[in-house]
Amino acid sequence: MKKIVLIGANHAGTAAANTILDQYPDYKLKIFDRNSNISYLGCGTALWIGKQIHSTEGLFYSSPEALRAKGADILAETEVKNIDFAGKTVKALTKSGEEITESYDKLIIASGSVPIHPRIPGIDLENVRHVKLFQDGQAINEALESDDVKNVIVVGAGYIGVEIAEAAQRRGKNTFLFESADTSLSSYYDPWFTKDMDENLQDHGVKLRFGETITEICGDGKVESVKTTKGEYPADLVLLAIGFVPNTSLIGDSLEKFRNGAILVDKHQQTSDPDVYAIGDSATVWNNATGKQDYIALATNAVRSGIVAAHNACGTALESSGVQGSNGISIYGLNMVSTGLNLAAAKKAGFDPLYTEYEDLQKPGFIENNNYKVKIRIVYDKETRRVLGAQMESYQDISMGIHMFSLAIEQQLTIDKLALLDIFFLPHFNQPYNYITMAALNAK
Ligand SMILES: Cc1cc2nc3c(=O)[nH]c(=O)nc-3n(C[C@H](O)[C@H](O)[C@H](O)COP(=O)(O)OP(=O)(O)OC[C@H]3O[C@@H](n4cnc5c(N)ncnc54)[C@H](O)[C@@H]3O)c2cc1C
Repeated sequence: MKKIVLIGANHAGTAAANTILDQYPDYKLKIFDRNSNISYLGCGTALWIGKQIHSTEGLFYSSPEALRAKGADILAETEVKNIDFAGKTVKALTKSGEEITESYDKLIIASGSVPIHPRIPGIDLENVRHVKLFQDGQAINEALESDDVKNVIVVGAGYIGVEIAEAAQRRGKNTFLFESADTSLSSYYDPWFTKDMDENLQDHGVKLRFGETITEICGDGKVESVKTTKGEYPADLVLLAIGFVPNTSLIGDSLEKFRNGAILVDKHQQTSDPDVYAIGDSATVWNNATGKQDYIALATNAVRSGIVAAHNACGTALESSGVQGSNGISIYGLNMVSTGLNLAAAKKAGFDPLYTEYEDLQKPGFIENNNYKVKIRIVYDKETRRVLGAQMESYQDISMGIHMFSLAIEQQLTIDKLALLDIFFLPHFNQPYNYITMAALNAK
């Protein structure tokens, strides 16, 4: 019986494990994970911390027991310390200190990512926290329970920073959001959208400090203030949300890596060692918008890559379709979704981009209830007219529309194709001249 060893069983690893266990009963599966829980939906952290949901139970969709019941040999709280790629063995250490050596026919690395831990003075003080694991959520939640925690400093206004700032503010804390860029969410949205999100945060009492960088965290054992490029602020809790790096130090130089340390994989999730696959946040993805390898750490990518790797490791050739980096965010009811490249990202990627945009009520004016404004911008390449990205915003749930743009980018469609696309009309949903068609028709 052939044996697959899987390192890591969060979103990527659990998807790979379920695929192997459900579809390839002739394979033996050994799983190591250093954490005590698996399949934690980090996207729920802010909802939980902000008391928008009242239990963490639903934030897990699997467990070591569930995988064991399906036939996996799984060791939780057991960290893989070394991989011998030539000898095809891994060495792991259990919580109780027992060393385990396991051989493999195929290895799947799903070791994920770790939060960036900037080397600024005071970073290791008490009440300076990352936002990643379930255990981080527990610690933040507990800290926020205390009346002594009045001032919360969130560092980084990407989607996690924005979400956790909303959550802290909902808990009645004096919340500051620091970001070195000039707006929130600048990697995914153009200023036409981010200004709305910034206003939305501000209107709800989150204090924005953009274009300002934290230089030092001060305190005696516990954080008391932060120093920035522009001043000093009192702080009782500092939440770091400045991004993630692939957790691949275990691999050393044994496999080819991307510039940020992610393991380079092909469309089969295969690494430079043909018996080794890498998935999720530990690996690269193929970005269809740029036509290049990229690093986009999302649970959606992790799950798909896990499925692809599992099939290939078990002998069924399957290619990934690549990704567009589709994402969404919902803050105090303001919904934004995007896919592909925003204008700045398209320029940075070397395109000569144009954009077309449209703003209107989602439904005809005679629909009196639940009829909100929608904004849409489509970014396309001037020369080829290929769609490179799309961004949408509304207080209505317009999220499903972005998937069409995701497919358009994947399939390399032009903006002109979208202008004449058969989009139905029903007043309950949209206008006869709906916002997608209008934006596409307006393209120069
Ligand atoms: C707060 C937050 C909100 C998010 N919201 C969203 C969202 O809304 N939508 C979305 O798509 N994505 C979201 N993400 C991103 C998403 O959570 C990650 O992309 C996803 O977790 C990646 O899954 P992964 O399995 O590749 O890696 P990870 O989740 O990092 O898991 C890696 C696993 O490997 C284990 N491991 C690591 N090293 C070892 C070792 N040496 N030995 C044994 N085990 C090891 C770890 O314990 C862990 O279980 C969010 C992330 C965070 C932190």
